[in-house]
Amino acid sequence: MKYISTRGQAPVLSFEEAMLTGLARDGGLYVPETIPQMSAPDIAALAGLSYEEAAFRVMRPFVGDSFSDDDFAEIISRAYAGFGHAARAPMVQLAPNHFLLELFHGPTLAFKDFAMQLIGQLFQVALKRRGEKVTIVGATSGDTGSAAIEAFRGLDAVDVFILFPHGRVSEVQRRQMTTPAETNVHALALDGHFDDCQARLKDMFNHFEFRDEVALAGVNSINWARVLAQVVYYFTSAVALGAPQRKVSFTVPTGNFGDIFAGYIARRMGLPIETLVVATNQNDILHRALSGQGYVTSGVTPSISPSMDIQVSSNFERALFDAYGRDGAAVGQLMGELKEQGGFRISQGALQGLQETFASGRASEEETSAMIRQIYAETGEILCPHSAVGVKVAREHLGTTPMITLATAHPAKFPDAVEAATGQRPPLPNRMADLYERPERVSRVENDLAALEELIRERRAV
Ligand SMILES: *Cc1c(COP(=O)(O)O)cnc(C)c1O
Repeated sequence: MKYISTRGQAPVLSFEEAMLTGLARDGGLYVPETIPQMSAPDIAALAGLSYEEAAFRVMRPFVGDSFSDDDFAEIISRAYAGFGHAARAPMVQLAPNHFLLELFHGPTLAFKDFAMQLIGQLFQVALKRRGEKVTIVGATSGDTGSAAIEAFRGLDAVDVFILFPHGRVSEVQRRQMTTPAETNVHALALDGHFDDCQARLKDMFNHFEFRDEVALAGVNSINWARVLAQVVYYFTSAVALGAPQRKVSFTVPTGNFGDIFAGYIARRMGLPIETLVVATNQNDILHRALSGQGYVTSGVTPSISPSMDIQVSSNFERALFDAYGRDGAAVGQLMGELKEQGGFRISQGALQGLQETFASGRASEEETSAMIRQIYAETGEILCPHSAVGVKVAREHLGTTPMITLATAHPAKFPDAVEAATGQRPPLPNRMADLYERPERVSRVENDLAALEELIRERRAV
């Protein structure tokens, strides 16, 4: 199994190399050269398996000879052992023909644990074998950082530094980053906004001397291994509702197009998915693009679903690559226009291709709150604001095909928005009820590249 860049100018890599590299050197994103297929009998055979067994069968062909069968099975088993639900990704029913896929039973209560827990174990095994160590640096507005820290804590091949904007993440998010006691974990509160965190991260990756000195690695949502991990729950949930005999549709609250792109891969592998519905909040660049209004950035407006507050949806490049017939030069040109002019038009042919698979919708702030309130009244189920965006848009696309909406975070992660909508303050699950008592460990850092690099040099174990 080989991986190629969406811009066609970077070296072809193995699964392991693509995972350790993250972003391709030509600025593109790695995608599999060919998409492995699962036949109807292969899919039917997933019924009744554990999540881990299904994960092995779905992901195995993408990994090639980077990991042995035994190693890969062991990695999967360790990745999901810390989840608080035996089914890992259980489903509940919201209404006739409408189901909610709960992806928030991982250690940090958001769906990012599915990918991050796996990638932590994959990195550890690959790096041990190579006799290498890396320094992972990430920027977060909340969920990614806590998921990364939780995934890499205590793994001795890795030091993990997470930059978050001081005073601008929720208390649960901050405590999830600052309370792990392992010495390879470093939470850095930067004096600035999330954009400053991302800018300094980018600066570090572009400072090649520093990058090589500390063996910098990234695990943001463009890492192919993260996309792959998310393909699994599309299969397990569809099979639970009768696939491959019965088609299903999915609605996915999306920011970076990572989670829904995993659904697209599942569909390309042969899972009978009718429609993939993109659900955005008021930051609706994807909804506008898929409605034919061009892909045009317009600044971020903070919302009550902050993990979807994005300006540029980085994984969308992978969908464009296929929509343009895998023409790397064409994708490179679009991305150039995006950088220089803040947007681009999608060709008629490419747009038509995208619209055959994807539908879209958006939810305003008021609609999101109203949906949390309404679903609580109708079912007793408490949604997080991101999931509520999904449910609102899904309800506009209900038909005869069963609809599965992805619930991306636990409501206790966003207690203020939920309480404002329902009057109920959702409690943390028992297994992390002592989060507010655990001691915090965090370094406050100024928004300055040299100071940051110095701190990382000093703190990392060599
Ligand atoms: C990250 C995140 C999203 C958006 O996921 P993408 O992969 O960026 O599309 C949605 N909901 C929650 C809770 C998240 O943490």
